[in-house]
Amino acid sequence: MTASIPSPRPAVRAVPVPQDGVLVDRAAHRRAEPGLVGALREIGSTRVLLVHRGRLAVAPGGEVVVLGGERLVRVPAPDDGERPRWLFLGEDGGAAYLALVLPDDADAQGMDIEGIDPGDPLAELVRDHTWRGLREIVGGADGLGAALATEAVALAAWHASHPRCPRCGEPTVAENAGWTRRCVDEGIDFYPRTDPAVIMSVVRGDGADEQLLLGHAAHWPDRRFSTLAGYVEPGESLEQAVRREVLEESGVVVGEVDYRGSQPWPFPASLMLGFHARATSEEIQVDGVELTDARWFTRAGLGAAVDAGDVLLPGRSSIARALIEGWYGARLAGD
Ligand SMILES: [Zn+2]
Repeated sequence: MTASIPSPRPAVRAVPVPQDGVLVDRAAHRRAEPGLVGALREIGSTRVLLVHRGRLAVAPGGEVVVLGGERLVRVPAPDDGERPRWLFLGEDGGAAYLALVLPDDADAQGMDIEGIDPGDPLAELVRDHTWRGLREIVGGADGLGAALATEAVALAAWHASHPRCPRCGEPTVAENAGWTRRCVDEGIDFYPRTDPAVIMSVVRGDGADEQLLLGHAAHWPDRRFSTLAGYVEPGESLEQAVRREVLEESGVVVGEVDYRGSQPWPFPASLMLGFHARATSEEIQVDGVELTDARWFTRAGLGAAVDAGDVLLPGRSSIARALIEGWYGARLAGD
């Protein structure tokens, strides 16, 4: 029997996505250690990120706050990981990173704290910090802080949305330092979920005439244009998802599809998988539901439209921006 030799594929040019270079050692082998979080809280070198309502505590300079030791020892560490929830994020140079997820009903302004005694250390933590959304943090320069923050927010969101067993409806409990939830009645473990979504720079033509397809979604501000994107459906490959989404939203037929890079996007649980795709048709017919406008842009046309403020691109922290600028070949104006 003769083995078929695959033809060499062209080199895929990766898109530099924010956080790409940062690798957090998640030290997964430690998650099952009994009493891990409780023990780490007592160690002076342990660093803790604070999460509240999907936002992170930040210092005046905007960097993610990583608190150490003493003050946190006062915060309770319930065995089942509920109220507040402690998560083990990993290690760096021998120091452990934890996330402390404060209850949603602790008010960020410290004005109205339902169910929590004002002298409670949780209420103090909420009141004494400034809170920023993950999009802002990922856009900042603190790569390690952004990577840890993304991990913490993604895992916290999974816990918040999976309080009960999807099979029998009984409450589940957190185990393994926040990396599983268990239905005690049935003895089943559930694991954190990530929903794959595809996002793609679709082009047609060649050279100076090459054009990029950008769309305007119904719920976006005026003049905002970005790459098309959508969720992968059950039973579908990533390439099929790229072709289906582009066809559904814009009427454009896609042929060749190449992978370019990925970005976790925990709003609440997406993983954006970036592709570069080549269209085999030109005519655009938007679906009018998800997309209300879509256009082909040459490089010169896009640069001019952005400079004139006629097109507003997605933020620098997004893989969408990385795909657009990866095709354009340079930074484009705007935030
Ligand atoms: Zn169950």
